[in-house]
Amino acid sequence: MTSLLITNAQIVTLDDENRVIDGGSVYVEDGRIVDVGDLDLDALDPDRTIDAAGKLLMPGLIIAHHHLYSTFARGFTPPGPPATNFDENLRFLWWKLDAALDSDDVYYSSLLALMDAALAGCTTVIDHHASPSCCDGSLDWVERAFKDAGLSGCLCYEVSDRNKPGEGIEENERYIRKCRDAHSDQMAAMFGLHASMTLSDETLDRCAAIGNELGAGFHVHAAEDAIDVEITRERHGKRVLDRFHERGITGHKSIFVHGTHLEPGEMKLLAEADSMLVSNPESNMNNGLAVSPVLDFLRHGVLVGVGTDGMSSHVISQARAMYMHQRALHRDPTLAFSESCDILLRNNRRIANRLFREPRGSIVKGQLADIVIYNYVPFTPLRPDTLYGHLLFGIGFTRAHTTIARGKVIVENGDLLKLEENKVRAHCVERASALWSRIR
Ligand SMILES: [Zn+2]
Repeated sequence: MTSLLITNAQIVTLDDENRVIDGGSVYVEDGRIVDVGDLDLDALDPDRTIDAAGKLLMPGLIIAHHHLYSTFARGFTPPGPPATNFDENLRFLWWKLDAALDSDDVYYSSLLALMDAALAGCTTVIDHHASPSCCDGSLDWVERAFKDAGLSGCLCYEVSDRNKPGEGIEENERYIRKCRDAHSDQMAAMFGLHASMTLSDETLDRCAAIGNELGAGFHVHAAEDAIDVEITRERHGKRVLDRFHERGITGHKSIFVHGTHLEPGEMKLLAEADSMLVSNPESNMNNGLAVSPVLDFLRHGVLVGVGTDGMSSHVISQARAMYMHQRALHRDPTLAFSESCDILLRNNRRIANRLFREPRGSIVKGQLADIVIYNYVPFTPLRPDTLYGHLLFGIGFTRAHTTIARGKVIVENGDLLKLEENKVRAHCVERASALWSRIR
């Protein structure tokens, strides 16, 4: 048994009472939180004690949709004419970049993004992977990066027909079975699909049959751009969500990403199916697209989460972009502030807790010890009713002092303990440079 005691912290519990505890302690045994609050320290004999005086402690952050493989796109301009729309953006950039990845690129792009996540206070990432030139076994390389970085991951491979029919089906099936047999508290799996517009009926039928039999839930982009809606209507005579729903791809373990152009009837369908919707506002805006109408989804009773969509591993900035976009869009300064923070801190954990074996996302007895400590000293009162202001305007700009994942310290004093950060970054520069030179 290993044990860890954290003392003197300002604790943001995110528990049912939304308590903020000043000068409190957290006691951890074997990766789980055993006790929180004003503890009898003399009665404890921990293996290790961390004095968090003057620091803020809260649950590790959760990213509900990421593309770790996109890391090496930073600064890259693909050869040829610039993309002028979403379809060209996929064909000119993303599908060239993912096709050029080899298994080492998959590992290092994942590792680098996970290092950044840990340094930002994130402990759980739900990823959506593509690397067509090394599809088989690729999720094992992503998993290796999670194991080396120490974070929890829920993985899938995005099946599409864009290179060959049904590419990625076997990789999803293999990895879901592997996870199921491993009974891991660290890794989980879903069945990944790219989007309705890149999936034939035959492929979707095969995915639905296998995915539903395995029961892992699906993770798919839905109506990110109007082109997905138009192609689905032209080729199949249906709405995007109807096409998924009639095959049982909706359900309480399934994530639909963006949903930007879904109609009210499809939102209602998502709510009735108890499915999840993940918004990525910075990605939508970066692509020059409409942004997920998160308030409409919430009004329909859909469980809405927030991801980064590969833009970065910094999810607090996505919640900030989410509420600011809603205010600018509707010219209304009252909108979406608390909703965006709730989506980040409460809904993302509800999403994760549907997918992982171990409950996480609050500083509560029995939860996984996924904890971040920020060197954040508030200069205005920090209470339950002011927390969200501190989150978006203060904590979000602070690098994690200590990140604890499943009871293990992975970041200490702002440094990654198990990894040589600068060495990995330098190696990634070499890999990215070689990758870029292969893209024509
Ligand atoms: Zn995405």
